[in-house]
Amino acid sequence: MNKVILVTGASRGIGNNIAKTLAHENIVIANYNKSEKEAIQLQEELKKENINIDIMKADVSKRDEVENMISTILSKYGRIDVLINNAGISQYKLFTDITDAEWDNIINTNLKSNFIVTQEVVKNMIHRQNGLIINISSIWGVTGAAMEVAYSTSKAGIIGLTKSLAKELGPSNIRVNAIAPGMIDTSMNSKFSEEEINEIKEEIPLEKIGRPEEITKCIKWLLEDTYTTGQIISINGGWNI
Ligand code: NAP
Repeated sequence: MNKVILVTGASRGIGNNIAKTLAHENIVIANYNKSEKEAIQLQEELKKENINIDIMKADVSKRDEVENMISTILSKYGRIDVLINNAGISQYKLFTDITDAEWDNIINTNLKSNFIVTQEVVKNMIHRQNGLIINISSIWGVTGAAMEVAYSTSKAGIIGLTKSLAKELGPSNIRVNAIAPGMIDTSMNSKFSEEEINEIKEEIPLEKIGRPEEITKCIKWLLEDTYTTGQIISINGGWNI
């Protein structure tokens, strides 16, 4: 396939699995921010299979760091075919206890980052009249979640951004879609006890928590697809139907 693919937040969890899997057939740039050790580990693991992957540090909520990352990628490869806006953080807290700083951190990391990274990447896509953008939203962006108001707001914002941008960029042959995962087994959910996880499983028709691979499978399909845009694809074991 050999597409040039940027995955944000690829040091851990879902992004790590996406980067690792797609690197077998594509040129993948794995972005990370704090987890340098895990990013290097990903790179070294793939090297053992003779697969090269670029790892790049940038806080995706900061314009200057993103600008540097994108210009480095463009000077090396000349293009970015696919952007996967995956980086994100969560917070579990009563609405009345959320501070201004915490609200800004969630919105900037999860939503403003999509604006910044996409804006920097899309100029090249428009120039080439070709591109695919996949944003990682969440089930909570669709339904809302108690104790996760800032997170749910940021993920609902991604849905608005995805739909609007699909309309604006469709004429430039750029597809923009979002995936809204249910509960996926990553460290993002380490706040839940085993008992709480079991209670959640009982609410899910498929009776299990998802794995990062289940999100990657959808991404592989979107890479092949040519006629899907502006869609929010729910992968949640039927948790929200
Ligand atoms: P995770 O295991 O906690 O990984 C989060 C990733 O995002 C890490 O690689 C982290 O990199 C990166 N990241 C965070 N802030 C960043 C920043 N400012 N700049 C660059 N990278 C940053 O979480 P996950 O479960 O894989 O989540 C991935 C995405 O899926 C998130 O957008 C999340 O909201 C969404 N999602 C997850 C679930 C779930 O149940 N797990 C459900 C729905 C949606 P560093 O550690 O290097 O900073």
